[in-house]
Amino acid sequence: MPSFEEARGIILGQTKVLGEEKVALLEAHGRVLSQDVHTPWDIPLCDYSAMDGFAVRAADCTPLPATLRVTGYIPAGAVPTTAVEPGCAIRIMTGAPTPPGCDAIVPIEETTQEGERVTLKAPVRAKQHIRFQGQDLRAGGVALHAGTIIAPPQVSLLASIGKALVPVYKRARVAILSTGDELIELGKTPGPGRIINSNALSLAAAVRECGAIPVILGIAADERESLREKMLEGVRCDALITSAGVSAGDRDLVREILSELGATEGFWKVAIKPGGPTAFASINGLPVFSLPGNPVSTMVTFELFVKPALRKMMGEKKVVRTFVKGVLAEEIRKAPGKLNFVRVRVEREDGTYRAYSSGSQHTAALPTMVSADALAVLPLEASLVPAGSAVELLMLRDVDLTEG
Ligand code: AMP
Ligand code: MG
Repeated sequence: MPSFEEARGIILGQTKVLGEEKVALLEAHGRVLSQDVHTPWDIPLCDYSAMDGFAVRAADCTPLPATLRVTGYIPAGAVPTTAVEPGCAIRIMTGAPTPPGCDAIVPIEETTQEGERVTLKAPVRAKQHIRFQGQDLRAGGVALHAGTIIAPPQVSLLASIGKALVPVYKRARVAILSTGDELIELGKTPGPGRIINSNALSLAAAVRECGAIPVILGIAADERESLREKMLEGVRCDALITSAGVSAGDRDLVREILSELGATEGFWKVAIKPGGPTAFASINGLPVFSLPGNPVSTMVTFELFVKPALRKMMGEKKVVRTFVKGVLAEEIRKAPGKLNFVRVRVEREDGTYRAYSSGSQHTAALPTMVSADALAVLPLEASLVPAGSAVELLMLRDVDLTEG
């Protein structure tokens, strides 16, 4: 049975980056650039004033106080037509192109004005408060490198260089198949023995959070034909996630059907808890994640295995979440032999993340997953991890927020 890292390594070794497409700039937000993007013009495009004030010749500004004659006005958006003559200044606004002859901008706060005269009170350095043509980027230079994740600053840069269409990696379409005779769809009221197919929805939400596109296939009965038919639908997507039907029950047919469909098995079971009965296979290069059916296991194994794979498929380079260091605030018992991911609440005290069990660790106990801030990673061989132990945390949400 592979360890957590081995299993994740097998998955990442067998997932490939999807193709590219060009999308409108705002659609590119949250996605990964697939090619270098070059700027077609210098940034800034010409020399600009960085302050509201006066365009001057620095040599005219000594000795202080120096008085200059104001000969014009350049608002933002205007194109200067006259030069700054010796002994003169031109009033200028932030973002306006500097006029010929000018080699410094004097902020308005450092002047006094009277009629057509402006008097400078502070020393003036040549080049001050001018943003020079091409000082950020030269025409033809790389504005953003392939592999960059497009967040608001990247959107801003792409917009400023006129990129309306952006080359990005495709978003993965992820098929979600729930299996089990006991399942009914949301909207129906469960009778005894029946449960609502919540996994399809939690998985779809998790797929969305990764920036991928969920394709809910519905429920397959624990029956060959039903499973086979739904799985064949699933392989038309970029990845397939199944939930349940991978344990040791006599109706757990997922493995058999996968093999009939020609899947190459990556692993079957992992030495972790929850999520032991997780399997991974590929069908002609299409990754298939067979997750356990208990809702907590489903979500935890998505986080541990599916998320990094989807990130890789969509062009991200750093796909593995790093753990955060914390301290166990209370002792936690576990059975040795498996790496445990324990649901914990996390409080930040004096800069230290202190983790408290969020309650029952049964894989069907949803409330303790709902209230968990993180998964605490407890070592394979440990049976009791004492209070005060250093512990690694896989954060599930931001715990550093306070009420405003
Ligand atoms: P199995 O792996 O088929 O033995 O399922 C394990 C447990 O997960 C059972 O208690 C199932 O009822 C539950 N389960 C399976 N599929 C789902 C689902 N789609 N939504 C919620 N719970 C599920
Ligand atoms: Mg079942």
